[in-house]
Amino acid sequence: MNRYPCVVVNHEAIRHNAALVSKWCEGAGIRFCGVIKGGNGELSIIRDYVAGGASMLGSSRLAQLRRVREAGLTIENPNRADKGERIPTVLIRVPMLSEIDEVIELADYSLNSEMVTLKALNEAALKAGVKHKVVLMADLGDLREGYIDHNELVETAIVVENEMDGLILAGIGTNLGCYGSIMADENNMTQLADIAEYIEAKIGRELEIVSGGATSSLKPVLDGVMPAKINMLRIGAAILDGPLDDVRIFYGVEEMDEMRDDAFILKAQVIERKLKPTHPIGTLGVDAFGKKPVYIDRGIRERILLGVGRQDHGDIDDLVPCLEGAQIVGASGDHTIIDIEECSQKPVVGDIMEFKLKYSAIMRLTASEDVKRYDIG
Ligand SMILES: *Cc1c(COP(=O)(O)O)cnc(C)c1O
Repeated sequence: MNRYPCVVVNHEAIRHNAALVSKWCEGAGIRFCGVIKGGNGELSIIRDYVAGGASMLGSSRLAQLRRVREAGLTIENPNRADKGERIPTVLIRVPMLSEIDEVIELADYSLNSEMVTLKALNEAALKAGVKHKVVLMADLGDLREGYIDHNELVETAIVVENEMDGLILAGIGTNLGCYGSIMADENNMTQLADIAEYIEAKIGRELEIVSGGATSSLKPVLDGVMPAKINMLRIGAAILDGPLDDVRIFYGVEEMDEMRDDAFILKAQVIERKLKPTHPIGTLGVDAFGKKPVYIDRGIRERILLGVGRQDHGDIDDLVPCLEGAQIVGASGDHTIIDIEECSQKPVVGDIMEFKLKYSAIMRLTASEDVKRYDIG
């Protein structure tokens, strides 16, 4: 490892986290769909999910689902009756009308919320001579995708069931904690379960899938309040960054302590070390990104500059320095500034600084061509 910045991917840690998620889900009668978009859909990471027990793989990007298909992955979870079968793929972003044929080709399931899109999927499936499985999304208040009018969802489900021969109504689902920062709880999960039961009564059969959300929906599982009707979760973040995912949601949830937060480590090299004032000198305008940050004058302090920046890692709030006492004070496109005044061991030019990473930094860094990737474990 001699090229910087780089990300060290610890596959053992990813498998460990995936196996924990799998265990928690299984304990609650929930199927674990591994969401691969956060690790840029890297095949080595996908294999960790599968080894950890995922029995479906989901992504918002068709190119990543193509990678899954081309690798010919099968279900490895020994507790499942479908072990050894080809692992199903799920498009977890509502399809674009411009990609319908590829959705039919690459995804066994897709999440949906528009009649015009369902009609297009139906026609494409009929033309290709296959059945495509759809999950209709209920918006339970997070206000991203899905039917906010649940009657419209039920009516659409009945149309899919009775009139669209190219589609199979696999079930319903919801998404939380993405736009509206709404937490999954007993209340909204019960609402989803109720809608599912209502549709089942209308169509006279059970739905295969009732998908209760993403990582944030592990909380009701761990709290022991998840309704039995919820039988699938789509999990990415918890596997990649473990307890760093959202400490506010999972604060005090003991099980999260078992998760590893070192699956992805950013390493960057120190390129300057100097004592500098903490308040800029001169007339304040805007920074490199056109913003007007507030600077606090803390006097002269020792700080270092790293050869990595926002073009690589995004927001500095998504980095957690491993060096005790180090504080990230800012970053521009290709530089990151670290206050080391309170560090007992102060890095010098040429030294390497390490950071644990939150979800969006993992997503950006694994997708960046300028960041070298090293695999261990
Ligand atoms: C990204 C995404 C997920 C996975 O979310 P995590 O927080 O990474 O677990 C699940 N469902 C949908 C629709 C998503 O877009």
